[in-house]
Amino acid sequence: MGSVMNSSIAWPCAALSSADLAPRTTLKVGGRVEWLVEPKTPEELIAAVQTARENGLSVQVLGGGANLLIVPEELPGCVISTELLNRTFRSTDLEPGKELHGGEAPFHRVAPSDIRDDPRLVLWAGARLQGLVNATCKLGLRGAELLSGVPGHVGGALAMNAGSRDWGFWDQVERVWLLDPSSGEVMEKKRDECSPSYRNGQLNGLIALGCVLLFEPENKLLIKQEADEYLRAKCAAQPVTQRSAGCIWKNPDPEQSDGRGAGKLVDDLGLTGHKLGGAQVSAMHGNFVINAGGATGAEMLALIQDVEARVLDATGIQLSREVCVWDDETLRRKGESRD
Ligand SMILES: Cc1cc2nc3c(=O)[nH]c(=O)nc-3n(C[C@H](O)[C@H](O)[C@H](O)COP(=O)(O)OP(=O)(O)OC[C@H]3O[C@@H](n4cnc5c(N)ncnc54)[C@H](O)[C@@H]3O)c2cc1C
Repeated sequence: MGSVMNSSIAWPCAALSSADLAPRTTLKVGGRVEWLVEPKTPEELIAAVQTARENGLSVQVLGGGANLLIVPEELPGCVISTELLNRTFRSTDLEPGKELHGGEAPFHRVAPSDIRDDPRLVLWAGARLQGLVNATCKLGLRGAELLSGVPGHVGGALAMNAGSRDWGFWDQVERVWLLDPSSGEVMEKKRDECSPSYRNGQLNGLIALGCVLLFEPENKLLIKQEADEYLRAKCAAQPVTQRSAGCIWKNPDPEQSDGRGAGKLVDDLGLTGHKLGGAQVSAMHGNFVINAGGATGAEMLALIQDVEARVLDATGIQLSREVCVWDDETLRRKGESRD
């Protein structure tokens, strides 16, 4: 692990100062961060967090940027990206206890042993969700097909408990490795030691380094067919080719909303297509706000707040956000809780 001297900080991996985050998010909105750091192994990530701590820099983690709105034009501290931590392994091909380190054999190079003997995969935080769907289709593993068409990385899916109304990523988790950025401690936790909830992995400031997922062996063709069906349904219902951050709001309690999802509440108020600067409520789905061209983070946030105020006014329902917002307030609060 060679260290990279950049300005005055010796990072243990690639690092860029004054880096533009907009291209790193699916909304294509975001400011410049003091440091963007790109570890390529979990060990480098752990060392990068330690370097940030020693230099008094705040740490945010960025996965695929698919559920994220970055508001400020300038962000202090460092953003650690999981872009280069894109590794998936068969658990049988690794020595027990060495899974987090991965060994030398990435998924696509290992000679296949029978998956039914051990239907698990080991993934680092930057493993792509679509790579996971493809791997499970090829191997004949049931459990990831609902992620078909969902962008982002495994670390983001753990943080968000990504999934559908009735299924979340954590349903497949056997174990996770978590890093406490304030102490540098690495913990291995079993699924039943964690308390994920709807669209919230409850990581509470911990950084996910990787996980072991457990699946059910199933006919490969059947799995592929189901994944393709989910993808078709998603493309028909959601603006998947536009610049969005996925669903902005969680679905409210159906008893409170007469069974209407957040998108339907927005649609019913005639807010589809509603625009503020370059930010627009999708004409296709009321729960998506898109960057229709040149939107700023402030415009995106103002539109989201405007829709929330209108829904509250008309229905009495306070929509709760699914999208993660990095604004001055949340970054400041995070900095304070670390100090
Ligand atoms: C077109 C489209 C469709 C989508 N469909 C769905 C869907 O069907 N279901 C669904 O649930 N979501 C959906 N999403 C949202 C998104 O794909 C998921 O939430 C995904 O899991 C986000 O992962 P990410 O790596 O992009 O996270 P990011 O957006 O990069 O980060 C989200 C949050 O997780 C934190 N985070 C990221 N990595 C880590 C880590 N390693 N450790 C700790 N915290 C971390 C970040 O700090 C941030 O707070 C969709 C998005 C788009 C654009």
